[in-house]
Amino acid sequence: MNFETKIKSLCTLSMDGRKFPVYNSNGAQIYEERNATLVFLKSKGMFGMDQFQLRAAGHDARKIFTIKFDDLAKIGKDLGNAYMTINGYRRVLDDPYWQQFFHVRERDFTYIEGDATKARPRASLPCFQCGLVLPADLITIDHSKPQAGGGDHAVLKVLRNLNYDLTHHPGVGQLATAHRDGTSAPLHTKAGRNSAPMHEGKAERYTLTDKGITVLSVLAAATSLNQVYDACMHSAFNLRPYCSKCNTAKSNAMQDLSMVNDA
Ligand SMILES: [Zn+2]
Repeated sequence: MNFETKIKSLCTLSMDGRKFPVYNSNGAQIYEERNATLVFLKSKGMFGMDQFQLRAAGHDARKIFTIKFDDLAKIGKDLGNAYMTINGYRRVLDDPYWQQFFHVRERDFTYIEGDATKARPRASLPCFQCGLVLPADLITIDHSKPQAGGGDHAVLKVLRNLNYDLTHHPGVGQLATAHRDGTSAPLHTKAGRNSAPMHEGKAERYTLTDKGITVLSVLAAATSLNQVYDACMHSAFNLRPYCSKCNTAKSNAMQDLSMVNDA
């Protein structure tokens, strides 16, 4: 899903002053905001830049927030880079950047063949919960926000973690911090550490800023709200590798990665 390209197409196709629906959040719910509208402003000069403006609905149509194409394109690009594809989330295993985060590498595994002990290298990674290293085809991928009913939550979680001030409070998790700082040190599994308590409630975590409302509305206008849901549900910010025992304990849908070693 190339949001950068889709935003560019939207700008190319849109007339100056075209209006789009606005999406806002309340707690972890997304809803269509009737008290505002999103307006596209075509660049006039040779060096001008297309813009989107969030405006209050009503007679004065007060300007609330303006964002330029370049800023939108960058956010769209980051959202696309974190997208792990629907069919098997291969990107976690193929892309060096994500391999680094999730400790993916070839490791020797012991086999008993007949009565002979053999070591064979397999692409492998640890369960994020218990730390057990498994061949990639035995790892399952868990959605932090479940596929059933977790769409709004996933979108807001990803927007928060992209760290462009799209929510009032930025993401504080390992991946969000690494993304913000431009580092790719491997993420610590939960094994052997105490998880930090979450002090903030949903409202604090997921309330969109005016910038966040504008960005979500542009993303939806450039694709569809469903495509934004899909990209966020299958975003690295919403996925963790687990062994089947830990994943079953969490009771979310499992995703088989068995194609990984077929290549
Ligand atoms: Zn586990």
